[in-house]
Amino acid sequence: MDLKFTAEEEAFRSEVLAFLHDRLPQRLASKVSNGRHLTRDDMAQWHAILHEKGWLANHWPQEYGGPGWTAVQKFIFENECAIAGAPRIVPFGVNMLGPVLIKYGSEAQKRYWLPRILDGSDWWCQGYSEPGAGSDLASVRTTAIREGDHYVVNGQKTWTTLGHYANMIFCLVRTATDVRKQEGISFLLIDMNTPGIEVRPIITLDGEHEVNEVFFTDVRVPVANMVGEENRGWTYAKYLLTYERTNIAGVGFSVAALARLKRAAQTITRNGKPLAEDRQFAARVAKVEIDLENMKTTNLRVIAAVAGGGVPGAESSMLKIRGTEIRQEIASLLRRAMGPYAAPFVEEALEAGDAGEAIGPDGAASAAAQYFNNRKLSIFGGSNEIQKNIISKMILGL
Ligand SMILES: Cc1cc2nc3c(=O)[nH]c(=O)nc-3n(C[C@H](O)[C@H](O)[C@H](O)COP(=O)(O)OP(=O)(O)OC[C@H]3O[C@@H](n4cnc5c(N)ncnc54)[C@H](O)[C@@H]3O)c2cc1C
Repeated sequence: MDLKFTAEEEAFRSEVLAFLHDRLPQRLASKVSNGRHLTRDDMAQWHAILHEKGWLANHWPQEYGGPGWTAVQKFIFENECAIAGAPRIVPFGVNMLGPVLIKYGSEAQKRYWLPRILDGSDWWCQGYSEPGAGSDLASVRTTAIREGDHYVVNGQKTWTTLGHYANMIFCLVRTATDVRKQEGISFLLIDMNTPGIEVRPIITLDGEHEVNEVFFTDVRVPVANMVGEENRGWTYAKYLLTYERTNIAGVGFSVAALARLKRAAQTITRNGKPLAEDRQFAARVAKVEIDLENMKTTNLRVIAAVAGGGVPGAESSMLKIRGTEIRQEIASLLRRAMGPYAAPFVEEALEAGDAGEAIGPDGAASAAAQYFNNRKLSIFGGSNEIQKNIISKMILGL
């Protein structure tokens, strides 16, 4: 198995780097690198730049507007974007719903919704989780009862990321109760402006408004908004989750964060010496760097296997666990490096300066906020405990 990139792949990397150099606004890169909050317009701006280049929907087939990249090209693109400080692509429309519509949607749904995802006409959010239905997702209780040419939806979704920006939500809803719980679920597209929908913010540990609760009271949804067949939604939901878990290792994010940590350790002093010379601190940095190098190799092995026609199995779960542990460890070290600067997270410091300039030692103002925000990484997309269950089932047969 050859883990080196070919000459063509290296040429592709150069093309990506040139594009990022020319088109990634410095303002956005600076905001991302300094851990500043991104506004809705910031995210929409990067979405539009990628769409114009034809690189937005890199998981879609070419006939629907994808660039026709290989798994290696996607890996290179995603990692170089992260290293350059590009905002992440908001995944709900492009990376999650798009592939589901392409595989299971009707022709009319594809024709109508896919171009609107690409040009940013619709901002989608994901209505899967409910109180009592997270890891055990098949327990969703939000009901959709058919009345003529509408479904009437009642219930609650939670942890809805960026739901306060969205005009559309794709939901798992219960359409049958007298069957096995996986067999009574349907996949419904709901306009957030329909009467009966209420979005309430959840403020997370880092003080941010990123997630929401969404309540549905007698919400009328046209039958034409059901994807695929009634009661087959579990199949579509699982298919979507395989896309939620692409690039799960987040190598590029860790490479960028580690570089930032090392810069900080050179400039911040403890007892008159750069922190990088503190043996205990240096040992932890070295350990996480070795872990990252190992994970990168595993990631490339998985990509090489996929390129050779294989299907990633338990490896995806391993990458999710290691990738998120590494990102959390780097965030923890950065917070330690900043010492007292990282103790409070100051809201003004996160919002001020639209140019995204750093405040205090490199990014000190956001070190604590990022540390707390990164706690989510081992929870969403299937918690790390659930990933361990998957590994034990697939490898050990338990
Ligand atoms: C920041 C953030 C953003 C999110 N965004 C979205 C979103 O946009 N849309 C959406 O639908 N959902 C979203 N989620 C929800 C996310 O998918 C769930 O939080 C996740 O699936 C875990 O479910 P839960 O929170 O109900 O925890 P639970 O399932 O109640 O789990 C609680 C704890 O028990 C452990 N556990 C549960 N079952 C088992 C088991 N069988 N074996 C071992 N351990 C177990 C879990 O690992 C966890 O530690 C988001 C979550 C967060 C934190």
